[in-house]
Amino acid sequence: MALRFFNTYSREIEEFELRNPTARPVRLYTCGPTVYSRAHIGNFRAYIFEDLLQRQLELRGYKVHRVMNITDVEDKTIRGAREAGVPLQTFTEQFKAAFFEDAHTLRIKRADEYPAATDQRYLDRMIEMISGLISKGLAYQADDKSVYFRINKFPDYGKLAHFDLTQLQSTGRVKHDEYDKEHIGDFALWKAWDEADGDVKWNSPWGLGRPGWHIECSAMSTALLGDQVDIHCGGVDNIFPHHEAEIAQSEGVTGKKFVRYWLHCAHLLVDGQKMAKSLGNFYTVPDILAKDYTGRELRYALLRVHYRVPLNFTWEGMNEARESLARIDEWLARLRKVAEKANAEPARNASHSDAGGRPTANTQRPATAFEDALDDDLNISAALGFLFESIRETNRAMDQNEMDEASAHAWLEWWKRINTVLDLEAETDVAIPHEVAQLAEERENVRREKNWKRSDELRDRISALGWQVRDTKDGSKLTRGAGTE
Ligand code: AMP
Ligand code: ZN
Repeated sequence: MALRFFNTYSREIEEFELRNPTARPVRLYTCGPTVYSRAHIGNFRAYIFEDLLQRQLELRGYKVHRVMNITDVEDKTIRGAREAGVPLQTFTEQFKAAFFEDAHTLRIKRADEYPAATDQRYLDRMIEMISGLISKGLAYQADDKSVYFRINKFPDYGKLAHFDLTQLQSTGRVKHDEYDKEHIGDFALWKAWDEADGDVKWNSPWGLGRPGWHIECSAMSTALLGDQVDIHCGGVDNIFPHHEAEIAQSEGVTGKKFVRYWLHCAHLLVDGQKMAKSLGNFYTVPDILAKDYTGRELRYALLRVHYRVPLNFTWEGMNEARESLARIDEWLARLRKVAEKANAEPARNASHSDAGGRPTANTQRPATAFEDALDDDLNISAALGFLFESIRETNRAMDQNEMDEASAHAWLEWWKRINTVLDLEAETDVAIPHEVAQLAEERENVRREKNWKRSDELRDRISALGWQVRDTKDGSKLTRGAGTE
């Protein structure tokens, strides 16, 4: 059966149809982190859902071209840099590096591209798009010198959020704080420079300033994926105004349907409330590791509930994740033992397969139930249900000595396939590639010289090769960031 997704735009489950799937990859755009502080595990719930989506598409034979943007200029990054007394880039670099480190810990596959909003290429594109919107009458420069999108001129505005625009009262030209807009719902495309922005400023046809957050995503997605995106994701809080604004800007410029499928994940909660920086109820990945949980356990805890269902974060949930993974580990170890024994003594195994002359329970593995469940709007809870049911059945077969060589191998092969989606296997000792070892050694040297900038660059290069470097009191340690290429 074909893949199906709940499309936020239609509020319906729709079959995933791609024109020319063999001719081109799926174009996937995922809103990335705003690098003003370390991302919390609520953010990572969104990224893990997107990771699951990408992996299931790949399991089904699609190639995926995934772009995740890095928002490195907006109000919070500017404020943070000012308070820290450092240039914007120095401020954001540390959180960018932390984001990649945490994503590795959680075995999130790397996107193909991570465009940053402050890259001149994308700033040029933003300026080009804003100019296009102004020339079409879809944007205007207000008295405060900022440029705003004119939502009244875009009849589809509000369609994604199913939002009735008349609820937003237009009061003519209203003075609202420091700006002067035609409609209260008009959003900024270009923000005129003011003193609080310090050195953060770029030239534009409208004077010095910086882009608004929404135009960043429109520019980066159309620059890298073309005018039309197949799937666009984020958390539900992104629906309005961010994604609504992206549609208005992108379609306003191109005149083409911007996104075919909009997928949004529900929030990670703490005591029933959204986990959020502003509420102070958050944990970061290092907070969880400090409690002696592993990245793999956290990945499981964030992955196991259907993405459209709010998930409450609890330590009990972390312990359940640990227990579930232990069951998988034990099961795999048992299967391997049967398979290995069988390899060494093929004759004895043959006798296992025909015990009682009936087909062993294990030969009837749910070959497609797991994958079918994921095809159904990424129903991970059902998929994991099938996995644990299979584990129970095959364990029973092994208890009764009814598992034969071929079946053990078949189960291990099955696991290998579904684990390309789950990526939940325990770390095994993997040889460190020469290039990674050399970079790590160079990094040790520059750290002794206290060249932190170079050290961070080397960390990024090591991380791009799929490895993580951790500084401990016994020197730096390398671990494999699974799921990366
Ligand atoms: P931000 O860095 O705030 O732009 O958020 C990055 C991503 O994390 C966005 O897709 C948000 O929708 C998502 N997000 C933020 N908080 C949560 C949460 N508590 N649970 C799930 N996703 C979240
Ligand atoms: Zn975005």
